Amino acid sequence: MDTPKSSKPTHTPMTQFPAANGELLIGGQPLSRIAARVGRTPFYAYDRALLTRRVAHLREHLPPTIKLHYAMKANPMPALVGHMAGLVDGIDVASAGELKVALDAGADPAEISFAGPGKQDNELRQAVAAGILVNIESFREVDILAKAAQELGLPARVAVRVNPDFELKSSGMKMGGGPKQFGVDAEQVPKLLARIGDAQLAFEGFHLFAGSQNLKADSIIEAQRQCFDLALRLAEDAPGPVKFLNLGGGFGIPYFPGEQPLDIAPVGDNLKAIVEEAAVKLPHTEIVIELGRYLVGEAGLYVCRVLDRKISRGHPFLVTDGGLHQHLSASGNFGQIIRKNYPVAIGTRMEDTPRETASVVGPLCTPLDLLADRMELPPAQPGDLVVIYQSGAYGLTASPEKFLGHPAAVEVLV
Ligand SMILES: *Cc1c(COP(=O)(O)O)cnc(C)c1O
Repeated sequence: MDTPKSSKPTHTPMTQFPAANGELLIGGQPLSRIAARVGRTPFYAYDRALLTRRVAHLREHLPPTIKLHYAMKANPMPALVGHMAGLVDGIDVASAGELKVALDAGADPAEISFAGPGKQDNELRQAVAAGILVNIESFREVDILAKAAQELGLPARVAVRVNPDFELKSSGMKMGGGPKQFGVDAEQVPKLLARIGDAQLAFEGFHLFAGSQNLKADSIIEAQRQCFDLALRLAEDAPGPVKFLNLGGGFGIPYFPGEQPLDIAPVGDNLKAIVEEAAVKLPHTEIVIELGRYLVGEAGLYVCRVLDRKISRGHPFLVTDGGLHQHLSASGNFGQIIRKNYPVAIGTRMEDTPRETASVVGPLCTPLDLLADRMELPPAQPGDLVVIYQSGAYGLTASPEKFLGHPAAVEVLV
């Protein structure tokens, strides 16, 4: 992969959506036509063909026996979950609300798992009633699940979500290692396994998830290897055979200047080696990976319309009808320490060359409502459509939608 030669890093070219006659195409249709059919801006548009293509691309590199799950918290739009359910082997949910969407989408309950640090009593009961697998993240959940199983006369299918005793290097968001609210510390797991055995829950395996948004194949490989080795050790204390081992997700996509796409081939090779070793050491175990961002992030665009073009002391501002309330991640307020620009384009001027340095802002009364800060863009006018790439994951779902009472963004699957 070439790194840009100039001292100022640029965005990886966004080539997943083609353009024709100066307009970006989504699902083969011009952006302005999609906007007309949606009927208003802003909206998020996701491209089915890109979702399908991404899963196929990933499968080409994964060992055939590995199970691929979709972590639907990345994008819980019901139609999109329905599309994904037909492509992957299972769905991971993070709440009872997501569970309902997954079940309504037709996902097989046997292949749904539920993770999250704050599961409510009723959510755990719903999980038992639905027959899905619960990734246990605290001792408290054992008692609640045991009670629900007894009352409902159903088995409580469980796995243990482990907080590993190492950290994932170069991860955008660390979710394991050190003190964490996620999972149960590896050193406490033997005690938890004993409790699960005593409570007669149906133990099925382990779940390990070290972190999100990782673009470095080497560190993903190292983390998956360490997770596998840790699971082998923990399996010695398991109250029953390990039926599945979930090695988590966290594959990243490039957002910011200078970032390069993840090289998936070595990650696939490493998983092949793990699957082969598991066939010997844990012969009844299916290996699962669960991905959110990597599967859906690049297939989505956020689209908003330029309402006004203002020059303030020589600097052009494109004031749009979209903003941080609908796309917190692109505004830089979702866990970024130093704000960086998402890839942005004027979707109705794809053939024009960038000729000015402009800022794209939203309608909210805060300087944080910034969608692009001093980017090279073709001069845009009121009525033009601004697109923000890489918006298929953690977009609308991770945003404070009701901020200032502006209308919600619509979603379409094209
Ligand atoms: C968020 C999450 C995922 C998905 O993470 P991505 O970085 O979007 O792939 C997978 N598993 C669990 C338990 C999660 O919480």
